[in-house]
Amino acid sequence: MRNGKGVSRGIAIGKALVYDNRGVRPTNRMITVGHVAEEQRRILQAVAETQRDLRRILDGQGEDDKVIRDLIEVQMEVAEDPALLSKANQYVAVSLNEAGDALLRATEDMAQQLDKVESEYLRGRAADVRDVGARLAAHAFGVPVVDLSHLEEPVVVFARDITPSEAATLDRGNVLGFVTEAGSETSHTAILAKMLEIPAIVGLRFERVRTGQLVALDGTTGEIVIEPTSAELDLFERRRARFVEDRERLAELHSLPAVSLDGIQVELAINIAGPQEAARVAEVGADGVGLFRTEFIYMDMDRAPTEDEQLAVYKAAVQQAHGPVIIRTLDAGGDKKVPYLGIPAEGNPFLGYRAIRVCLDNPELFKEQIRAILRASAFGQVKIMFPMISALSELKRSKVLVEECEAELRERGEAFDAGIELGIMVEIPAVAAAAEVFAPHVDFFSIGTNDLCQYGLAVDRTNPKVADLCSFYNPGVLRLIRHTIEAGKRAGIWVGMCGEMAGAVAATPLLFAFGLDEFSMSPANVPYVKDRVRGLTLDKACEVRDTVMALDSGVAIKEYLEGWE
Ligand code: PEP
Ligand code: MG
Repeated sequence: MRNGKGVSRGIAIGKALVYDNRGVRPTNRMITVGHVAEEQRRILQAVAETQRDLRRILDGQGEDDKVIRDLIEVQMEVAEDPALLSKANQYVAVSLNEAGDALLRATEDMAQQLDKVESEYLRGRAADVRDVGARLAAHAFGVPVVDLSHLEEPVVVFARDITPSEAATLDRGNVLGFVTEAGSETSHTAILAKMLEIPAIVGLRFERVRTGQLVALDGTTGEIVIEPTSAELDLFERRRARFVEDRERLAELHSLPAVSLDGIQVELAINIAGPQEAARVAEVGADGVGLFRTEFIYMDMDRAPTEDEQLAVYKAAVQQAHGPVIIRTLDAGGDKKVPYLGIPAEGNPFLGYRAIRVCLDNPELFKEQIRAILRASAFGQVKIMFPMISALSELKRSKVLVEECEAELRERGEAFDAGIELGIMVEIPAVAAAAEVFAPHVDFFSIGTNDLCQYGLAVDRTNPKVADLCSFYNPGVLRLIRHTIEAGKRAGIWVGMCGEMAGAVAATPLLFAFGLDEFSMSPANVPYVKDRVRGLTLDKACEVRDTVMALDSGVAIKEYLEGWE
């Protein structure tokens, strides 16, 4: 049995298909000067054919396949990027490359630029660029574009990476599961596999796997067996039966509230990074949006979005959410680079000039966003959340800016919710430890366990070498969480959580016993957490809490909670 990272739940048992999507290789042949014009014409033709392919793929998508639609649209933009085309033309004219080679080189240059950026999100875009490059080159060489759209039989696909257009044209009925070498929890493979509900494992090297071998994989645990014994096969078949049963049962919870057996109700919300994702609230049976990460709006542009541009985005989210939407103000810096903000290169970007620090330093930029959020509150329930607060003075200055924005909007005659709730992310350990100092000044807390672990345990959350140490089950982190919740409750405010821990079903009884009011998570986790809450009583959860708080290591706590039913 081997282990990768399970990124999409479910069990797959079937034959392996080792799929080489690097099939388009450069020829390294040189052309003569007399052929330059002809090869440059070929480039244009390849672009036109690629655009046609992508348009066809796009037209074949349903309206709800928003993630895939967006990804294909990004690819269409790449394919007609003038800088890319001029580079490819230059490779033909100066290096005397064939059109296909020139297109591969030009797209590879672009992908390598993206590989270098720190943001995982932008690094993920490199796969899109290589995908387009392969398609452009295949057309230029006149070879068929390889895809997974016509499979002979059900298979588990092993690939270096699954690109967006491959996923879009996938023969869905015949793909039982994915295993990729590349990828992380936020990679395309992971996002798409979750959306298509195909079990998937990423980050697994599989050089010894051969097409046709029987494999069994568990997309929840990340376990995989090649040529399983009959006992192993039996184990995976039992897991599969249980998974299917669970899924049917969970689907029935869709419109039911997250209420415990003894009548305590909590709110379940989803984390989003774009307005279209807000529609997932209703799809998964959640109550609202607990975290709208707005930095992606800034990262997608080469200048700061205007108040009206932001309003359009927030309004679209609010109108699709069917519930309250908590909009977090710009959390730039760290691994989320926004080049035009002038954040200098720093030795420790996670500890540096970022988030609220940048916003308070650029009040006009900050106010532009605050006014847009306030105006969006005229279209539905909206709350404002400030990230990375480390001192009360930052919160007070932010609140003054909100008041100024309200006065400006009043003067302009713009509508907004005058009683809009203001809250902070509790993600810096010193704030968690002094939660009672902050509570009287806000309407709510939302605990950011991703950063609370990073700062509380001194573990860089983006460094795979130390990732295992970054555990929210660590006894010190748990005490900070418990203290934050209890201090918030004593002060009469509600307390939520929008870090990854909120979606970890093993942690649900513990957080419920601590008194957490709102759990905000990836949409796919909502049914599981709801199910867990509906099986709890406060007494049972408190027993779990007391056992956990008497244990002395994160490993022991995780093991106990994962084994508890
Ligand atoms: C967190 O830190 O837990 C959080 C939710 O914010 P982000 O992951 O965007 O830093
Ligand atoms: Mg954070």
